[in-house]
Amino acid sequence: MLQQTRVETVIPYFRRWMQHFPTISELASSSLQEVLGVWEGLGYYGRARNLHKASRIVMLEYGGQLPGDVKSLRKLPGIGRYTAAAIASIAFNRDEPTLDGNIRRVLARFFNVTEDARSRMGEQRLWQLAGQHLPAGHAGEYNQALMDLGASICSPKSPGFKQCPLEASCLARSLAIQEQRPVLLPKPAIPHFIVTAAVICRDQRVLITCRPPKGLLGGMWEFPGGKQQHDEDLPTCLRREIGEELGVEIEVGSQLGVYRHAYTHFRVTLHAFWCILLKGEPHPIQVVDMRWVRLDELSQYPMGKIDRQISQTLVSSPSL
Ligand code: SF4
Repeated sequence: MLQQTRVETVIPYFRRWMQHFPTISELASSSLQEVLGVWEGLGYYGRARNLHKASRIVMLEYGGQLPGDVKSLRKLPGIGRYTAAAIASIAFNRDEPTLDGNIRRVLARFFNVTEDARSRMGEQRLWQLAGQHLPAGHAGEYNQALMDLGASICSPKSPGFKQCPLEASCLARSLAIQEQRPVLLPKPAIPHFIVTAAVICRDQRVLITCRPPKGLLGGMWEFPGGKQQHDEDLPTCLRREIGEELGVEIEVGSQLGVYRHAYTHFRVTLHAFWCILLKGEPHPIQVVDMRWVRLDELSQYPMGKIDRQISQTLVSSPSL
């Protein structure tokens, strides 16, 4: 949960999660839809899907006990080098170094690492430094101390030296270049996509579809639609998308709203329209499932941020 997300944000989600899934076995026996519903709002839904898959593997292959060694942990879905080492050192007291964003910043400053921290060379150097000073038998405490130092004192902007226990021997501090470390070369510009979505109503119900299980928002529900292609106006885009996804023709009516959201690697502006079915009966072609649902049922279907906002617009607007 804490990957890409701050502790303050995670706390209420963590509590809700632990109420629903207090043990690995309860998580493993839950459906993916339940899991996505409890995770909803935290984003990066691949993490929830991976946790669910990992819990089933732990039940089947490890008798319900999470393995404590890095090699086995890394075989579980969603567990990479950092997470495996963090679990092994903190939960199982194994002598494993780890490297999260906070540790990376502290080490890059303390040792004045001049390589780009996102490059292969920079990454290798930082992992090597993380391991080089690991106190045997205390890796968990050491890793957590560096994480906490980075989170609380050695912050990205204006690190607070006065309280820092490393001040006397910190290289970046002695050269007064702490704010230039870690070296991070600029990332390429983030693309921006224009997307459309259709609100199609029938018998006081709206049509929602379920995304394929893999990829962005996999397994989540949404209002059907998709990305604008070159030279397409918005209604043309929406008619094409609905034809491809559901095999029907629609008339695109007035606009319900415009919604914006920034994902990690791109931004989206979504235009939602009221639409009317003209020809054909919708059936899932490029989606895995579809449902006609009443507005008071929408909250039972896990959705990403934008689709939940559309749902809320619908729920708070006059009845269909
Ligand atoms: S002295 Fe400053 S830059 Fe160095 S580790 Fe401490 S807070 Fe970070």
